[in-house]
Amino acid sequence: MLPFPFTAIVAQEEMKRALLIAAVDPSVGGVLIFGDRGTGKSTAVRALAALLPKIRAVAGCPYSCSPDSPAEACPHCSQQRGQGRGKSHQIPVPVVDLPLGATEDRVVGALDLERALTRGEKAFEPGLLARANRGFLYIDEANLLEDHLVDLLLDVAASGVNTVEREGLSLRHPARFVLVGSGNPEEGELRPQLLDRFGLACEVTTPTDIATRIEVVRRRDAYERDSQGFCAAQTKAEKVLQKTILSARERLVGMSVPDAVLESAARLCLALGTDGLRGELTLMRTARALAALEGADVVSIGHLRQVAPSALRHRLRRNPLDESGSTARVARAVEEVLGAG
Ligand SMILES: [Zn+2]
Repeated sequence: MLPFPFTAIVAQEEMKRALLIAAVDPSVGGVLIFGDRGTGKSTAVRALAALLPKIRAVAGCPYSCSPDSPAEACPHCSQQRGQGRGKSHQIPVPVVDLPLGATEDRVVGALDLERALTRGEKAFEPGLLARANRGFLYIDEANLLEDHLVDLLLDVAASGVNTVEREGLSLRHPARFVLVGSGNPEEGELRPQLLDRFGLACEVTTPTDIATRIEVVRRRDAYERDSQGFCAAQTKAEKVLQKTILSARERLVGMSVPDAVLESAARLCLALGTDGLRGELTLMRTARALAALEGADVVSIGHLRQVAPSALRHRLRRNPLDESGSTARVARAVEEVLGAG
């Protein structure tokens, strides 16, 4: 069955925007989506990947290396290069699910035991990080994953390289992906140190207004009855959004951030007492990616205002004197520092 089209997802504007921003500029860091089950988090990630144009990859490479950037080649491709140009093929942008309970071996890759036993060779069996290269890695219920695995994933996502030093193996391979984690706030919390390493955090809720609920149900039903027809009707909208993402990526290169915007970002983070400078950096990059998506030439305070909740709400320290939720605290600071929109 074809994936549900991104442009047919009803409401959930903040989540859609966060995912689009990550697709335009992966350097904003991953996206953490908090919300009830059945709010279409995994559907949205799959839909976004399906919306992006196919990528060219070296045939037979377990890491889907790009034939155009030999500098980032994996061990497999560097070995092949001496033997003439390998073939390449078009593949969809990968989406890899990281199941709960996945072992470190499965995630990182491990010694290929069969080859070691039958042929005495020390070969590497690539893991999920290899498959996620150049795509998306989706962790359902990231808050239930062991801390050390989350930590490892965030490290690899930030560096784009998986370094394996174990069982007598020693290798590095490219692992550039956008990490998308979902979490159910009622079932265990991510440690604050891990939380603030995700670029963006957004909240999704089951819609409460009748018209939206009806539309969600109507579209879901139409899709399940005739996914081909449903997707075909969405083709034009999907093409338009795909073009928007691609031109935003180009636009990003020359996009300037005025000093006044940087200053406002700094004042906002100070007012909220976020730790370190990661908040400001993410806020700036996120606002810039949004400006690029909207086709603007410069980043404005308006862009900052729109992205502040997703970029900052997971970076607030607990304030025992202030029981209001983090989203409300960010909204208040935005109003105080940036003025009412
Ligand atoms: Zn390769």
